[in-house]
Amino acid sequence: MKKIQMVDLKGQYAKIKDVVNDSIQEVLETTAFVNGPMVHSFQKNLEHYLNVKHVIPCANGTDALQIAMMGLGLKPGDEVITTDFTFAATVEVIALLQLTPVLVDVEPDTFNINVEAIKNAITPKTKAIVPVHLFGQCANMEAIMEIAKAHNLYVIEDNAQAIGATYTYKDGTKVKAGTIGDVSATSFFPSKNLGCYGDGGAIFTNNDELAHIIRGIVNHGMYERYHHDVVGVNSRLDAIQAAVLEAKLPNLDSYNDARRTAANKYDAAFKDEAKITTPFRNGAEDNHVFHQYTLKVSGVDRDALAKYLNENDIPCGVYYPIPLHNQKAYKDSRYNEADFKVTNQLVKEVISLPMHTELDDEQIDFITSKVKAFING
Ligand SMILES: *Cc1c(COP(=O)(O)O)cnc(C)c1O
Repeated sequence: MKKIQMVDLKGQYAKIKDVVNDSIQEVLETTAFVNGPMVHSFQKNLEHYLNVKHVIPCANGTDALQIAMMGLGLKPGDEVITTDFTFAATVEVIALLQLTPVLVDVEPDTFNINVEAIKNAITPKTKAIVPVHLFGQCANMEAIMEIAKAHNLYVIEDNAQAIGATYTYKDGTKVKAGTIGDVSATSFFPSKNLGCYGDGGAIFTNNDELAHIIRGIVNHGMYERYHHDVVGVNSRLDAIQAAVLEAKLPNLDSYNDARRTAANKYDAAFKDEAKITTPFRNGAEDNHVFHQYTLKVSGVDRDALAKYLNENDIPCGVYYPIPLHNQKAYKDSRYNEADFKVTNQLVKEVISLPMHTELDDEQIDFITSKVKAFING
């Protein structure tokens, strides 16, 4: 059996080596290392794939979130509601811009931001909501957009974990994750569903004016060479990373299919296990792209299970072990533990199993048999 990896970038690269190498070679020959034709071409292809008017490439997903918020003109003291159960980058940029993060609880089944909790957190200072499509599954965007409209709030989608996921409206209309809110941010970190071989990110929007503002912000606030109209940042997608992404984008759907296939096999293996809750699928099959495959275990010592798997050469992860409202950097006296019932429970119960495009049946059988052996110990 091949050694099991949490994410098998080597195995994936082996299959696309020639295409990726040729694409990188092209950048080396043109020596357009920052911006230039490769970045432009990837941008256009991603706009087409997502069916969104504007993709603005940038240096990483954290920058993408920050720049999206700068582009909307959010001001110090504005309150931004987001989820208590996400990677810290989401709340980090809110705090960095001196906006006030307002963390709220999540739904116990999807792990995504709880719509009722958003409603309860709205104050006259609230300016934006940042839903995160956690682990590859869209938040309840239809309800979130309704709340935003009713209260005149911006919606910034954190799409770092869900590129290629589909969101299905109640009437059956399908759109790509990250094209619903006012603006959205994604990451091309190597382990993400569309990963480059270094850092990369992008901002998406259908708003022409906002896209124009953001294109200036990513480039030192310049709209005309050496005229700095706003305070910007230096956040550009490296052309060599764009070359990798250009080579990989045509495979994104098949990569997400491979992840779903692996998830289905895990689900089937665990279906009779009373102590395991497999990931909830909210609606259509293509809504979830399984950035992570995350179980909830009950009546099981989760940390002992993780240790046992590691001893058997099975990597696993706990995303996330501490709710953000309890992180030193983001504590706030206004929070009340009783308002975080779900995240406080999830941090004790979740465990993510290896999930990537190269998992084979032998590996999945081995992983599931070890999990079951421990649980039924
Ligand atoms: C990865 C990630 C980010 C940040 O992306 P980087 O490219 O690593 O800066 C932001 N939000 C979420 C939910 C992520 O998973």
